Amino acid sequence: MKEIKELYQSADWKQEKHVPVIEAPDRVKKGEFFSIEVTIGKEIAHPNETKHHIRWIDVYFQPEGAKFPYQIGKAEFTAHGESAEGPDSSTIYTHHRVSLSFKTDKKGTILATSYCNIHGLWQNSQEISVE
Ligand code: FE
Repeated sequence: MKEIKELYQSADWKQEKHVPVIEAPDRVKKGEFFSIEVTIGKEIAHPNETKHHIRWIDVYFQPEGAKFPYQIGKAEFTAHGESAEGPDSSTIYTHHRVSLSFKTDKKGTILATSYCNIHGLWQNSQEISVE
């Protein structure tokens, strides 16, 4: 059986434009909201055009020792220049970046996933500690 986990690609985001870049504090205060930002193509820009674009970013938090992850939020990027006049004619494009806030009493790992309409699924992760 083919498993979807085999389809998630990863790499160094400084060299591969599809990898979601997670900007989050290394350590946070227990029970206090903090902000994270996830974007695509921070070092090498990813195209944003009707025929080639990022569709969504989906973010999870896996507390250390937990059996299952918690979804923090998902952003869908739905404008990519299309209009009744054809592809790349509207001038309206959603940028592939999302800002989210959450809080936790437990340290763990932020996992970000994303989807390019022609280059598939990508992932990245970052640990955070709690004080
Ligand atoms: Fe792509």
